[in-house]
Amino acid sequence: MPLPPNVYDAEPIPAAAMAEVERLLQSGDLFRYTAASDSPVALLEAEFAELLGSRFALAVSSCSAALFLSLKALGLPRDARVLIPAFTFAAVPSSILHADCVPVLCECGDNYRIDLEDFAAKLPGVQAVIISHMRGHTSDMDAIMALCDEAGIPVIEDAAHSLGTTWNGRNIGTIGKVGCFSFQSYKLINAGEGGIMVTDDADLIARAVIMSGAYEHNWKKHPVLLNAFARWQNELPLYNLRLNNLSAAVIRPQIGELARRVADGRRNHDHVAAALNRSPWLEVPEKLGPEERAPDSIQFNMVGMDAGEAAEFARAAEADGVKVQIFGRSADNARAYWNWKFLGAAPDLPRTRAMLMNACDVRLPARLTLADCDAIASVLTAAADAAKSARRAYGT
Ligand SMILES: *Cc1c(COP(=O)(O)O)cnc(C)c1O
Repeated sequence: MPLPPNVYDAEPIPAAAMAEVERLLQSGDLFRYTAASDSPVALLEAEFAELLGSRFALAVSSCSAALFLSLKALGLPRDARVLIPAFTFAAVPSSILHADCVPVLCECGDNYRIDLEDFAAKLPGVQAVIISHMRGHTSDMDAIMALCDEAGIPVIEDAAHSLGTTWNGRNIGTIGKVGCFSFQSYKLINAGEGGIMVTDDADLIARAVIMSGAYEHNWKKHPVLLNAFARWQNELPLYNLRLNNLSAAVIRPQIGELARRVADGRRNHDHVAAALNRSPWLEVPEKLGPEERAPDSIQFNMVGMDAGEAAEFARAAEADGVKVQIFGRSADNARAYWNWKFLGAAPDLPRTRAMLMNACDVRLPARLTLADCDAIASVLTAAADAAKSARRAYGT
């Protein structure tokens, strides 16, 4: 059997980036506001807005910065409560603390998506919502938008890991009032670090542009209605979360790779999912009907395994070259809400906790071949069989 592939290596950056990086290094023009117009960052914003079908985009230093600026641009008062799914990355509640607001966690089900009953119950107590499409899994956006629109509560989409995913044919990140994406290396477009936010709201983007660090009259280099900016001149703090031209030069040529990465990532995911679902001990939850996914990893649940069997499964898979992260069982996991000690005592969220104790995470980058995927799937199903039969043999 072929050895499982290295799933941590990145794809090479397209060669076109080299010429542009070289040009920027020659001229030293690395700051987005030095050029009078058409800086690489400004061009990236125009291209990204067009890609998603949004009116405005603002590139910043990370998705976390985009989430923070979104909350600030909504003008939320200190201590405003912001509802988030309890299954997300620690950076999401952190961005809420950064904006002087208070995260409120809602339950997620064993399909990794928001529990709508808990969501609806907690909504009346909050002033904003961040829907984190964790690992690209999309919750029921029709139901969420209906509830939030009815209550007049703004929705920020954390689409950090959802670029290329659609819901009813619409790009994830364009359904709420504002959508935030990441260019960190483990996402679909890799610049090492970076983020971008998109919105159709001129006033919101004007506030975010100024707060991102468009000091003095640098906002004139952004294509937004001028009266939206003029209103906010000198009224807002400057947090300086800008992206630099080198990052934009690395990102822009990857936009053309996106369709292929989405198609190959989905093919790889669905191939491995079919194989795992043939095991009685492993289960990949179904996506929701309106969703078309753009995965670069796979999540699945262990079925009927106790703590000892779960540990044996992870150990056996790793011994054969596939690292499995069990969200709730790997030490200090930043996606297990009880590890967010900076929030104080963890709330009681039994459904999310039960899901995290059985949910496994394996990287599955788009560059893998189907033979690579077969090797990964065989290791996982064999490890699950071994974990169950080892336990039976010892009669524990
Ligand atoms: C990666 C990620 C983030 C954080 O993105 P950064 O650009 O590293 O700040 C936030 N939310 C989710 C769901 C992510 O996957």
